[in-house]
Amino acid sequence: MKIIIAGAGIGGLTAAMCLHRAGHEVQVYEAVSEMRPLGVGINIQAGAVRILCSLGLEPALAATAIETRELRYANRHGQTIWADPRGRHAGLPWPQFSIHRGELQMILVHAAREMLGADRIRMGRRIARFAQHHGKVSAQFVDRDGMPVENAEADILIGADGIHSAVRAHYYPDEGPPKWQGILMWRGVTVGKPYLGGATMVQAGHHNQKFVCYPISRAHADRGEALINWICDLHMGDGALPSREDWNKPGRLEDFLPIYQDWKFDWLDVPALLRNAREILEYPMVDKDPVPRWTFGRVTFLGDAAHPMYPRGSNGSAQALIDAATLSKLLAQGGDPVRVLQEYEAQRLPATAKVVETNRTVPPDFIIMKADELSGGKPFPGTIADLVSEEELRRISDDYKKVAGFTLDNVK
Ligand SMILES: Cc1cc2nc3c(=O)[nH]c(=O)nc-3n(C[C@H](O)[C@H](O)[C@H](O)COP(=O)(O)OP(=O)(O)OC[C@H]3O[C@@H](n4cnc5c(N)ncnc54)[C@H](O)[C@@H]3O)c2cc1C
Repeated sequence: MKIIIAGAGIGGLTAAMCLHRAGHEVQVYEAVSEMRPLGVGINIQAGAVRILCSLGLEPALAATAIETRELRYANRHGQTIWADPRGRHAGLPWPQFSIHRGELQMILVHAAREMLGADRIRMGRRIARFAQHHGKVSAQFVDRDGMPVENAEADILIGADGIHSAVRAHYYPDEGPPKWQGILMWRGVTVGKPYLGGATMVQAGHHNQKFVCYPISRAHADRGEALINWICDLHMGDGALPSREDWNKPGRLEDFLPIYQDWKFDWLDVPALLRNAREILEYPMVDKDPVPRWTFGRVTFLGDAAHPMYPRGSNGSAQALIDAATLSKLLAQGGDPVRVLQEYEAQRLPATAKVVETNRTVPPDFIIMKADELSGGKPFPGTIADLVSEEELRRISDDYKKVAGFTLDNVK
């Protein structure tokens, strides 16, 4: 079958490789004219790493990323609330990887070019319009100035064109911009010393102010350093105006450093880490309400185009990878592609809508909100066990894993 994928992000490239391996003729069209290693850190859950490993990418990932050992929740004073082993350390057959998004993107594009042939990933081609007729989809691609550069025809079109998807906008023209509920994120990377054993992801703070960090570079670890990815989440209050979401917008240290000035933990000096950042980006925490349909005849959506979600619980890329693997598996079973795309939607839309909703209401870091509420924001005099039982903390953590599909049973 001939398949067009619009968007060569993490979801689009993975779908391209899965579908090519299943014997389809895949052509990817990417809007930007050159692939660059953009973004900061990203975490890939073990259940999604499995998909990349099946494409032969484990050696490249292991040579680049940090295999995450543990996710630790802490209060605003740096005291541990709950620690959850990850990936193989939790008994799963796959690792969880923390990696620079740009490096992941480059690993994927090199692998896809090698597997499919370089000409199968065409850059500088933004999908502008498309139509379905006589069992085919035809699409027109334009350059950055809006000039037509290529027309293509295929049996299926997959919109993997991210949070501002043009394919989705074709079917939901009145949807409006992504939704913002008042949280701004500053993200950055800093070269520092390894903390807590060198492979720990930490989420610390409380509802209105959070700090997340994790090391992302094998090369730095090998020379005794840590390239630490960090995120500062601040609730800006009602009435604050969101900045337009742009993954590459530079952030200003003075906008958030003062609020973290006294976050000096005995295992990490947060303000020093922020001050030494080699790059700072600002992004509003946005998502979109789930839509009722992704599939329209021979056209469907995948990844952020289908289900933009708050970047909580390491799910943005993971759910895109699972979409790619699911779609590929279903298409490999044969049959009418229109039915297959409907089945893909039936399997993935409700599951991802639940993640979107849970990331808004009871995200995995609900644990830190709960602990902050119980302690009144004060340091724990003893341990967290004096305030909340281990069973309760485990239940919160396990409930989220069930929603995201990452329990031991799901992943094995
Ligand atoms: C530049 C950039 C930086 C990011 N940085 C981070 C980060 O630091 N941390 C994090 O957690 N997440 C980041 N993300 C988001 C993260 O990659 C996604 O949430 C997740 O991986 C799902 O991937 P996706 O392939 O669905 O979407 P994306 O990764 O967003 O990929 C979508 C692709 O489609 C292309 N595209 C857009 N419109 C069109 C069009 N009309 N026609 C053709 N192609 C089009 C885009 O250029 C992009 O390459 C970033 C995304 C981008 C694009």
